[in-house]
Amino acid sequence: MKKLFLISSVIAFIFLINSCESQNETTDQKPHYETPKLVVGIMVDQMRPDYIYRYWDKYGDDGIKRLVQEGFVFEDTNFGYMPTFTGPGHASVYTGTTPAVHGIIGNNWYVHEEDRYTYVTEDPSYTTVGSDTDAGEMSPRWMVSSTISDELRLQTNMRSKVVGVSLKDRGSILPAGHTGDAYWFDYDTGDFITSTYYYEELPQWVQAFNDRNLVDQYLSSPWETLLPVEQYTESIEDDNPYEGTFIGQDSPVFPHDLPALRDENGPGLVASTPFGDELLGEMALAAIDGESLGQNEFTDLLAVSFSSPDHVGHQFGPASIEVQDTYLRLDRQIARLLNKLDEEVGKENVLVFLTSDHGAGHVPAYLEDLGIPAGIFPEDDVEDVIREFLVNQYGEDLLTSFSNQQVFLDRGQITQLDRNLKEVQEDVARFVSGIEGIAGAVSAHALQFGQLTDEISRKVQRGYNQKRSGDVMTWLEPQWMPWSSTGTTHGSPYSYDTRAPMIWYGWDIPAGSSTQTVYISDIASTLAVFLNTAYPNGNTGSPMNHYMKQ
Ligand code: ZN
Ligand code: ZN
Repeated sequence: MKKLFLISSVIAFIFLINSCESQNETTDQKPHYETPKLVVGIMVDQMRPDYIYRYWDKYGDDGIKRLVQEGFVFEDTNFGYMPTFTGPGHASVYTGTTPAVHGIIGNNWYVHEEDRYTYVTEDPSYTTVGSDTDAGEMSPRWMVSSTISDELRLQTNMRSKVVGVSLKDRGSILPAGHTGDAYWFDYDTGDFITSTYYYEELPQWVQAFNDRNLVDQYLSSPWETLLPVEQYTESIEDDNPYEGTFIGQDSPVFPHDLPALRDENGPGLVASTPFGDELLGEMALAAIDGESLGQNEFTDLLAVSFSSPDHVGHQFGPASIEVQDTYLRLDRQIARLLNKLDEEVGKENVLVFLTSDHGAGHVPAYLEDLGIPAGIFPEDDVEDVIREFLVNQYGEDLLTSFSNQQVFLDRGQITQLDRNLKEVQEDVARFVSGIEGIAGAVSAHALQFGQLTDEISRKVQRGYNQKRSGDVMTWLEPQWMPWSSTGTTHGSPYSYDTRAPMIWYGWDIPAGSSTQTVYISDIASTLAVFLNTAYPNGNTGSPMNHYMKQ
């Protein structure tokens, strides 16, 4: 009898503890040792944070608005480095550091030792899986540090699944790290592919996805605006001189006749329309089903990078109806993805973040017409001018490359001439600083050994990799760009390129916002704290979790 009493008191006591715990769970944040079932990283290629508010009134309730209203927004998120290109952006988000450490200094760059250019994810030791082109000869080998996706896999003894999907190879390969899976779009065939770095054959679900022939469907009707065109009051008129045309198109106006343009532009045409986002959105949903993401014992990670906003942005510029229409339609894809996560995994089990890989400037001619200074930088002519300077100064052509706004010198030749590399670098830096359109230049010597304090030099320093970068790094005046007369680009150290959106949503994230300055390289360690993993091995960022306490 006494024993029975004891047992029943123990049961009552356990019940009491349990009810306290469940009370805690409803009022407090989740215990530190728990981790989400699934992390979804959404990157929107070339997304400027002002697009959130510029188009706010035209967004639906379930996409971007839902992220902002139910999630936590960091209003002052920065890349903190130059060059702001796609490769460095994706690598920096997932490695938690900058090109100085992870080694991804551009999309293409000149390789000193080999006297040739490399593409960021090229790797001829692997072949394409899923098509007959060379679009799959890829791997993440140029990225010298681990990613948060690698650390998640290491933490769970490779039992977490990591999948990266993007139209762009670099948009999926770099986020997936060295140990995850990556699938990207073959612009020549219209199928999703991978490389033998990952698999010998496409998984069945990817093959089944390709069999749906969605590209044919998207290119079978014209691109018309989602809303009546007169409602795009946030953008400039449709027919304007600042936009590029598709091959075979007379003027860059709606409706864009995709069926007629397909022959000359190929299936890759879909990437330069909002339907590229629809395609990628479908691919993300297929990945969730195909890999049962979020249904496993260990946390999974899905890295989604929407590439079409970058392609459309380059061709039409931030003020265009085409860009606005792309975001209004992207908003619907984000809504579909969030709804799918709700259904399959539950908002409380999913941790979502949204950010970008860089921003973009306005079209220079558009600003000039408004009286705002801007310019097109004639990169090829300037290369000739630098070459001429070197011949006059040293009697030899010491220039091996002027690319990504960096001067690469022939170091072997400089040694042969018995010249001091530091002095030649400084001569060139002084000379190029006087060229119209160049706002500043700094030598590799100063970047490696100097104490730089001004903000732009520090951004250049964080983007400078001492093994891979050039001998003189230059940057242009605000809104100057090496680009054609229509459309726009990115890469500069200025706010239009270096400021990013950053929104966290789901799991343990309260609704809120902060104007605290944070960096893209803070994302990976923030994830590491949520996931209880180690930081990526080259991490230099700091976790932001404390800003998101309830
Ligand atoms: Zn990009
Ligand atoms: Zn771009």
